Amino acid sequence: MEIALVGIGKIAVDQHVPAIASSPDWELAATVSRHGRVEGVPAYDDFARMLAERQDIRVVSLCLPPVPRFDYARAAIESGRHVMLEKPPGATLGECHALEEMARRHRVSLYATWHSRQADKVPAAKAWLAERTLRRLRITWLEDVRHWHPGQDWVFEAGGLGVFDPGINALSILTEILPDDVHLTEAELRFPSNRETPVAASCRFHHPGRAEVSMELDWLHQGPPTWSIEAETDAGTLLLENGGATLSIDGTRDESLPGLAGEYPRLYAQMAELVRSGGVDMDLAPLRHVADAFLLGRRVVVAAFDWDAA
Ligand code: NAP
Repeated sequence: MEIALVGIGKIAVDQHVPAIASSPDWELAATVSRHGRVEGVPAYDDFARMLAERQDIRVVSLCLPPVPRFDYARAAIESGRHVMLEKPPGATLGECHALEEMARRHRVSLYATWHSRQADKVPAAKAWLAERTLRRLRITWLEDVRHWHPGQDWVFEAGGLGVFDPGINALSILTEILPDDVHLTEAELRFPSNRETPVAASCRFHHPGRAEVSMELDWLHQGPPTWSIEAETDAGTLLLENGGATLSIDGTRDESLPGLAGEYPRLYAQMAELVRSGGVDMDLAPLRHVADAFLLGRRVVVAAFDWDAA
C-alpha cells in the first residue's frame, strides 16, 4: 500500500522512514513537510494539494506535533484517507473523540499509535501481571530534555505536554499491562517560570485493589535516562526497564527474543492490519491520565528553563 508521511522532523526521520522502508506492507509514496524531505520520494509542502493530486495514496501517517495535527487529520479523513496518528493522538480529548466520530462516519481506519506499547517486553509483563495481585507500582521516567528534544520549543508551548510528552509513553505501557483500570488522584506539576508546560511531575493513582500506584517524571535529569516501571505483587517483583525493552522478575532477566523487531515496524504492521480489516483503534486511556493531571495537579513554579543553560 502506498502511504504519505506528513511532518518530516525528528521522529519521521529516526523511526517512520526506516520502518516503512523495511516493511513488506508499505511504500513511501509522498512526503508533506514545509522544510523536510526524504531523498527519492516526491515531496509536497501543501497537504491539500497532495490529497487532491495523489488519489492513489489512500493512507496518511501524521508525524507532526500534537497541536497542528487535528487539522491535518480532519482533512485526510474527510478526503476518505485512512490515518495513522503519532502519540499523543491529539492535543485534547475532545479533538480525539471528534476524529474518531469522523473516521467512523467516513468509514476509514484511524490508528492512535502508542509506540511504547510495542516495546519488546510489554506483552510478557502484561501476561505476568495478569496472574498476580498488585501491591505497589512505581513509574520512574527521568531524561534530559536537552538531549532528547534539542530546541523543540513546541514541547514547552500550551498543548505540547511538557514532561508528559515522554510521561505519556509510560502511561501507555501502564494502561496496557495492568489488568485493572487506575485513575489519577493527586499530582504536582512543576512549571518553569518562563514556560507553559511542566518540566517535572509527581502523580498518584487510585487502584481498585488498593495497590499504591505512583509516577515520577523529570525532564532535567542529567546522564543516562531511566524509563522504568517496578511492580511489587503477592508473588514477586517485576521490573520493566529501558522503556519496556528489558524485563526482570525477582532480579532474573527475561532473555527471550521477540519476533518482529522494533516498536515502529510493529506499529506499521498493525496499521496494515487495521486498513485491511477496516478497523478503528483509538485508545485514549494514556491521554486521559495526562488530562486528569492537568485538571487536578497543583502548580508549582520552578526555575526558568533555557535550552543552552546546563
Ligand atoms: P518535530 O521534529 O519538532 O516536528 C515534526 C515536524 O512537524 C517538523 O519537522 C515540522 O516539519 C512539522 N511541524 C512542526 N510544527 C508544525 C506546525 N505548527 N504546523 C505544521 N507542521 C509542523 O517533532 P518530533 O520530535 O518529530 O515529534 C512529532 C510527534 O512525534 C510528537 O507528537 C512526539 O510526541 C512524537 N514522538 C517523538 C519522538 C521523539 O523522540 N522526538 C518519539 C516518539 C514520538 P516542517 O517544518 O518541515 O513542516
